[in-house]
Amino acid sequence: MGSLDGKTALVTGASRGIGRGIAERLGRDGARVGVHYATNEVAAKETVAAIEAAGGSAFAIGQELGVPGDAAGLWEAFDRQADGVDILVNNAGIGWPVPFGEVSEETYDRFFAVNTKAPFFVTQQGLSRLREGGRVVNVSSGLARAAMMPQTLTYSMTKGALDVLTRNLSKLLGPRGITVNSVAPGVVDTDINADWLRADDRARAATAAMSPLGRVGEPSDIADVVAFLASDDARWITGQWLDTTGGAIA
Ligand code: NAP
Repeated sequence: MGSLDGKTALVTGASRGIGRGIAERLGRDGARVGVHYATNEVAAKETVAAIEAAGGSAFAIGQELGVPGDAAGLWEAFDRQADGVDILVNNAGIGWPVPFGEVSEETYDRFFAVNTKAPFFVTQQGLSRLREGGRVVNVSSGLARAAMMPQTLTYSMTKGALDVLTRNLSKLLGPRGITVNSVAPGVVDTDINADWLRADDRARAATAAMSPLGRVGEPSDIADVVAFLASDDARWITGQWLDTTGGAIA
């Protein structure tokens, strides 16, 4: 018996990185998992195969986010595979460092479209599918609260706005028994950081030293916290921002 037996989850951006870790963990806990991706269908199918190989159930859904009609397209594809959702994880996101003086309006709009607008409308349009007692988990960032990397200002702003969404939705959805929380990773070893973290040993060592635990985060570090929030054990936690930076901003 898994703690999420009989539940259905949708994890955006689950083809790779943190989202894949979350999808695999929710699948292991018994949820049937919608594995969303933007363009990387091969990677999404690998996530589905990994869940199935571990005895779980999953299906892939492709949908570009951050474009008009994205949320409707996502849910239409989801509805072809499942009847209602218990756990929605808004994880898909983009970001890279850009010095303040060099941020273009296009980059600003793109970051907000994918990281903030998409979770807003995916959740809004998912409300009719979200069952009583459900869970919404938004993947934020430690950078939403700590100005440690000012060159990520625009990205950090998108996550700060996402956290405002979390807090307000917790009030709106509480009467339906639905909890809404943010998890806030620090640096996690995924493709989003590949160009500097995996290519530069000194940068990796400096990043590891930011945590008192002395290492860089792994997707499973975040996935295990999301699994807790998705479980019945976390029924009394809502509207919260959970620092999952390994103590890097404590
Ligand atoms: P990642 O490895 O780059 O994976 C990104 C995922 O999002 C992929 O599944 C990708 O799909 C999907 N995606 C990207 N752009 C999309 C778009 N326009 N429309 C729909 N889906 C899109 O990223 P990650 O590091 O796992 O990050 C996951 C989340 O954690 C993000 O919200 C990120 O901001 C947050 N976060 C990450 C870190 C970190 O250090 N890694 C730290 C704090 C917060 P495809 O495979 O199809 O491209």
